[in-house]
Amino acid sequence: MKNTQGSQPASSAASTGSALTFDAFRAANVARCLKWHPKGIESWSSSDWLTAVAGELGELASLLKMRNRERDGLPGNKFSPTDKQIADEVADVATYLDLLAYVLGVDMGRAVAEKFNAVSERVGFPDRLEVPNAESTDAKRSVR
Ligand SMILES: [Mg+2]
Repeated sequence: MKNTQGSQPASSAASTGSALTFDAFRAANVARCLKWHPKGIESWSSSDWLTAVAGELGELASLLKMRNRERDGLPGNKFSPTDKQIADEVADVATYLDLLAYVLGVDMGRAVAEKFNAVSERVGFPDRLEVPNAESTDAKRSVR
């Protein structure tokens, strides 16, 4: 599993496009989550959602620990993690992180773009992301 766009400027990577946007992900994620949490996503606190994020990070870390053991020729692995298993855990982290952001009222697309741009500006890099317009929808809650 290699990051094939790692050396490209963000603007170039963004122009290649992605079928999935933060907004589309949020809308589907919230709709599905309400089936698990019919009383509302807020029935779990932000710390509940953060615990879920941390749990998925732990699952990802465990797989990467196995990869490190393989790299170093150490025993102890019950299986050899596949790229798909690692990608699935990355996706689980993203899914719970988006739900945490929802509960916190964070618009992920806007927050990521603004922070990315601020860091680029701070370190003097030219890479910038387009900051989405702030629009209030059911899936994009305003920051409280
Ligand atoms: Mg998982």
